[in-house]
Amino acid sequence: MDEREAAGRLAEAARQTVALGLNRGAEGNVSVRLHDGFLITPSGLPNAALTAEQMVYMSLDGAHRGALKPSSEWRLHRDLYRARPEVKAVVHAHSPYAVSLACLRTAIPPFHYMVAAAGGHDIPCAPYATFGTEALSQAVLTAMTDRKACLMANHGLVAVGASLTEALRLAEIVEELAAQYWRARLMGEPVLLTSEEMDEVLARFAGYGQGG
Ligand code: 13P
Ligand code: ZN
Repeated sequence: MDEREAAGRLAEAARQTVALGLNRGAEGNVSVRLHDGFLITPSGLPNAALTAEQMVYMSLDGAHRGALKPSSEWRLHRDLYRARPEVKAVVHAHSPYAVSLACLRTAIPPFHYMVAAAGGHDIPCAPYATFGTEALSQAVLTAMTDRKACLMANHGLVAVGASLTEALRLAEIVEELAAQYWRARLMGEPVLLTSEEMDEVLARFAGYGQGG
């Protein structure tokens, strides 16, 4: 795919984060791997109005080209692409329910089988660090060991995927799960799935859907 087409798709994904209720204003950011680097949304501009021309290309050494400054979270995106070759897209969001749970600084436990969509038995919460810092990037990378998503303490969520569609859908799933877990907790103490039950789900996910 050429850069123009990739930029168009990335801008569309950024606009979609607003339509899906994952982000408001300039909160959150999205990127997609391209050639030896990645394209990322610019810093501080409203997601709902982003265009292909505004996407910023960065190489994995952190250099960027173009007039606009890349997202303040470029390091987090860059470090994920560097450390995880299978990651082709990254979505970061300040979605309301994920943020609420992230403020409790707890993982989403296996209260529903869809928790396995993030790759394991829970959706961890990375410890707090200031936005845009290397400390935040390190905290998220560690929390995302064997995972495709995590919460970020007092901040939001991160989801990755083999495509923009996959990363966006996973961000949506994490937000749905956060809302469902919150509601269940309002009514009582949810019964958690066992380790064996979650392993069974993970095994089934490997052959789920139309692929494989
Ligand atoms: P940017 O506008 O710089 O992408 O920052 C938004 C954000 O979510 C910071 O964590
Ligand atoms: Zn953020």
